[in-house]
Amino acid sequence: MEEDLTIDRDVLQQAVDRWGQDLQELIAIEEMAELTKALIKRQRKQLHERTETEVIEEIADVYVMLEQLRLVYDSGYINVMIMDKIARLKSRLNTSTKEGK
Ligand SMILES: [Mg+2]
Repeated sequence: MEEDLTIDRDVLQQAVDRWGQDLQELIAIEEMAELTKALIKRQRKQLHERTETEVIEEIADVYVMLEQLRLVYDSGYINVMIMDKIARLKSRLNTSTKEGK
């Protein structure tokens, strides 16, 4: 079930202000590695309740860090890039076969 997401960017900005861009970028790298690890674990057929919960937790961690990076970098330009990449994906979906060729 899709839940509405409310992001308190004031809290995220406070985190960036307190700990700084460099440290928050390091934490983002760490969280991305943790998500990578959780996804690999799931792919290695260790799919059980805990593994799925781990993946979800790590997605949330990465998302929180990405939102902080959006505060540090040009979020308007990031939005343009996201829309451009989704448009390219749409184009690929419309031209490729189901097998991805
Ligand atoms: Mg984590």
